[in-house]
Amino acid sequence: MKSMHHQNYPLDNRNSFALAATAKDIYLLNSLQQLQQLATSLPEHFYILGGGSNTLFIEDYQGTVICPEFKGIAVTETDADYKLHVASGENWHQLVQHCLANNMPGLENLALIPGNCGAAPIQNIGAYGVEFADICDYVDWFEFSSHKVRRLSKAECLFAYRDSIFKNSLKNKGVICAVGISLKKQWLPVLKYQGLNTLGEKPTPKQVFDKVIAIRQSKLPDPDILPNAGSFFKNPIVDKASYQALVKQYPMMPAYPQVNGKMKLAAGWLIDQCQLKGASVGGAAVHKLQALVLINENNASGQDIIALARLVKQTVKNKFQVNIEPEVRFITHCGEQQIEDIG
Ligand SMILES: Cc1cc2nc3c(=O)[nH]c(=O)nc-3n(C[C@H](O)[C@H](O)[C@H](O)COP(=O)(O)OP(=O)(O)OC[C@H]3O[C@@H](n4cnc5c(N)ncnc54)[C@H](O)[C@@H]3O)c2cc1C
Repeated sequence: MKSMHHQNYPLDNRNSFALAATAKDIYLLNSLQQLQQLATSLPEHFYILGGGSNTLFIEDYQGTVICPEFKGIAVTETDADYKLHVASGENWHQLVQHCLANNMPGLENLALIPGNCGAAPIQNIGAYGVEFADICDYVDWFEFSSHKVRRLSKAECLFAYRDSIFKNSLKNKGVICAVGISLKKQWLPVLKYQGLNTLGEKPTPKQVFDKVIAIRQSKLPDPDILPNAGSFFKNPIVDKASYQALVKQYPMMPAYPQVNGKMKLAAGWLIDQCQLKGASVGGAAVHKLQALVLINENNASGQDIIALARLVKQTVKNKFQVNIEPEVRFITHCGEQQIEDIG
């Protein structure tokens, strides 16, 4: 099958913030062969795009967007596990539904996270006490330099909170083609997260799935109705001394211990304490009910979002001396840039 190459391609429907931007070139790839072919003359500037739910196109992108749209879910089993091999272009939430419908529970806490399966390992998606690393077996990754698919074990992926090797040393060096997922046949619900512990001791997987969806729908705006990119900022991790100074001043401040003695703070709480819910710049706003979510309220421009994100970041810094970093990726005309570097 021929890969589809388009020029000056509208991206409005390919980013959940619904920003009006175009890509100078885009390749919609359906097979590994097409990816291999593209890699023989890889453009100098490119961005790999999944579902666009963690990507903000601040302006028209002058490079090449590469969309791996590979499809397919294969299941094998051992005595203890279901083993899934899932192509990167599959939709994540549809995978969760597929597993549930076929009596392979284990993904229900990660229901309703938008985007494609190929992006799941990038920031190690997580919600309601489960993260991708918990169910990951391997990641198949096409390396541009060797033109070969390498299989990285879970350990090799270096998963951490919203982080992996793919955001660091392997960034822009290849494309995730498929993920391997392992689901225990002896299913144990994960109910530690507040809101799920009301389900009793022995809920069914469907009950957990339904509850996660109900909580998410009550808390997060639907991007199809109010365009957004989910949590805009990562929860900041601070050292013990900073935490102790802060908690003295703000005894009600939520915080979660990390393995290394550090503490993870709730970015949403910090933003809320700055009275920023509903704050807006141009068409971009902080959601009125969920401080961690920035929304495209009224035809926001990329510049509106940058200005609002900077306002939020600086206000939190001034009040708490804590740096909050965006979870979303900013793409300007020349490619991905950190918020501090955007002109
Ligand atoms: C309403 C809403 C709720 C959300 N809730 C959560 C949540 O609960 N937990 C959570 O962790 N995230 C959440 N997110 C963020 C987002 O859904 C995830 O980060 C998701 O994995 C992004 O998938 P995507 O395909 O849309 O990625 P994109 O935005 O297309 O890409 C994200 C990054 O992955 C890279 N990438 C994508 N595909 C590939 C590939 N095949 N190979 C190599 N690199 C690739 C891109 O270059 C980019 O750097 C939410 C977003 C929204 C809009």
